Amino acid sequence: MSTQALLPSAKVRRPKLIVGFFFTLVVLHVLAVVAFLPYCFSWWGVASLLVGNFIFGSIGINLAYHRMLTHRAVEMPKWLERAFVLCGVCSLEGSPLWWVLNHRIHHQKSDEDGDPHSPREHFYWGHMQWIYTADPDRNRLSTYEKYVPDLLTDPFLRWLHRGQKWVLVYVLHALLIGAAGFGIGFLVADTPDEAVRIGVQVFVWGVVVRTVYVWHITWFVNSAAHRWGYRNYETKDGSRNNWWVALLTNGEGWHNNHHAAPRTCSQGHRWWEVDLTYTFVRALQIIRLARNVVPVKVASYRQITAGETGQGSDEGRAELAPGVSADKT
Ligand SMILES: [Zn+2]
Ligand SMILES: [Zn+2]
Repeated sequence: MSTQALLPSAKVRRPKLIVGFFFTLVVLHVLAVVAFLPYCFSWWGVASLLVGNFIFGSIGINLAYHRMLTHRAVEMPKWLERAFVLCGVCSLEGSPLWWVLNHRIHHQKSDEDGDPHSPREHFYWGHMQWIYTADPDRNRLSTYEKYVPDLLTDPFLRWLHRGQKWVLVYVLHALLIGAAGFGIGFLVADTPDEAVRIGVQVFVWGVVVRTVYVWHITWFVNSAAHRWGYRNYETKDGSRNNWWVALLTNGEGWHNNHHAAPRTCSQGHRWWEVDLTYTFVRALQIIRLARNVVPVKVASYRQITAGETGQGSDEGRAELAPGVSADKT
């Protein structure tokens, strides 16, 4: 346990709004509601959420940002790693450096003082309020040097972070999808009005609704999966295995398993705990595009089947990524 957790909280948290990101959140949520008006609504748009979530949420956030960069649970060729990281950037959840920094702090101080997004006191704080709230302590270079020293050496990740270029990448991808939508519209529609309508629908569902959808299902891991569900391991935090969060996120909802063994690539530890993100990693492994996949430790598995608990939590808190320990303070 960190020493900070043993001390009474000395300062009252006074959240400082990140105005630009808050404004973006509001605008995209309003536009996401507009998507359900008859002019914008389409069933193929709804279906496209599944594909969009897999590319930008499961590959971009779950696999690239989380399992690969944060926990080094799998390695890939640099070109593929960067392509997948760009998918994560296109989910508008922050630069990879910022995301990994916050997530490693979350593992180190889970549901204790200093956890960036514990829902223990307020569900809304853990779900999304924290993300548009500035914390000067977490923005210091020294904090980055402490929590993401391995990633600071990567010029591509530094480039994305510096000058908020990750936002530029997001805007560019949105324009590209929009342009493709209008292009398809003019190719297949009989009238210009119908072509424009198809373009608007592709943009609204392929970018706006998909971004908001991936936001919320990612945030449910931080909020719902720290409140509701069952536990395989007696970890020191409030993490839970939540089946509907796992279903929506293609595997990230088995969050108690993940807190018990953060470096393990697969987050489903029992046979019914389906983890499609891990299935994708296994497929990449078969065609030799993924290597050094960190397995579920046999000791952890026996612990589940024997109904024993306790050791998994210590293992989990000991190592978040190679050279980054949860017990550092
Ligand atoms: Zn957690
Ligand atoms: Zn994690």
